[in-house]
Amino acid sequence: MIPEKNPFVQADGAKPTCMQMLQLILDDEASEEQRLYFKNHMDSCMPCFKSYSLDSAIKQLLKSRCCNDSVPPGLIEEIKFQINQNTAS
Ligand SMILES: [Zn+2]
Repeated sequence: MIPEKNPFVQADGAKPTCMQMLQLILDDEASEEQRLYFKNHMDSCMPCFKSYSLDSAIKQLLKSRCCNDSVPPGLIEEIKFQINQNTAS
């Protein structure tokens, strides 16, 4: 069930920007309702979708590697490039 009201809206009624929503999600500070809303929002918002995909790809990459291993230079650029390729329409 997708919340009808934007759960990111502040108490003073200020509408959050995509960047603010994204930040909460990526920082793992969003509530369940906010996550749900954002997931739905990404379906129609390409910039959010791209940023989110990129961040998850990088996090997964870092997780899958040994802590002492550094990410090879250029790899993050490569991921960005691939995401842009995949989402270009
Ligand atoms: Zn957005």
